[in-house]
Amino acid sequence: MAIESLLPIPNIFNARRILCVQPHYDDNDMAVAGTLTQLAKLGAELIYLTVTDDLMGVNDVLLSDTAATDALKRDQFAAAKIVGVKEQYWLGYPDAGDYDYFAVRADLLKYIRLIQPDFVFTVDPWLTYEGHRDHIQTGLATAEAVMFAGLTKITSTDPTVDAAYEEHEIQGIAFYHTREPNYISDISSTWEDKIDAVRCYETQFDPEGMNRRVALLDKKSEQVAQGQSFARGEPIKVLNTSALHVGI
Ligand SMILES: [Zn+2]
Repeated sequence: MAIESLLPIPNIFNARRILCVQPHYDDNDMAVAGTLTQLAKLGAELIYLTVTDDLMGVNDVLLSDTAATDALKRDQFAAAKIVGVKEQYWLGYPDAGDYDYFAVRADLLKYIRLIQPDFVFTVDPWLTYEGHRDHIQTGLATAEAVMFAGLTKITSTDPTVDAAYEEHEIQGIAFYHTREPNYISDISSTWEDKIDAVRCYETQFDPEGMNRRVALLDKKSEQVAQGQSFARGEPIKVLNTSALHVGI
């Protein structure tokens, strides 16, 4: 019997409630707004959770932290309107700072048990040469929180949530910013939406930097679609939740 029939790669289009965990305000949209926009249009609930406060990436260094946070959130809400994000949560860990991995994992366990998503998207922590610790910690903490959601002996930050939680099925996890995709999502129909959403993040990019980023996304989306029957794609590694440990 083929292993794939025992542990099939789940279909992201079967997801109804998707939690998208990102290190910084713009990561979900930069990587997979094309795919997420389609999922929202098909009726899936999108919930974004941002791990850090993203304050190191703000362009205008004269902005106070409060003003910068307001600006970042304004950008994020504008993008969310385009993509179709239903709800947002923020953990507020210091961007590129000193914080505890297990504290992040405990927070993520709380939100996974509370929201009960049937699919989770996050950044691939095993991306070769990823140098940003926020990305590595977020991806790994999310993978562990997905694996351990049902093990309430592994406590979250909220005992009430843990006590009320009854195990639910998480069909799979989708890693973006990956170098080992097993699924190329066709984003031809939502490419314009993606770029409109990306352009909302003006607190983090000056106009020239934004144009460069869009040009990069443009080339990359065409490159990953080479050999496919469509013109633009987003690369994703989709795994069955049970494939997250002693990998199959
Ligand atoms: Zn990031």
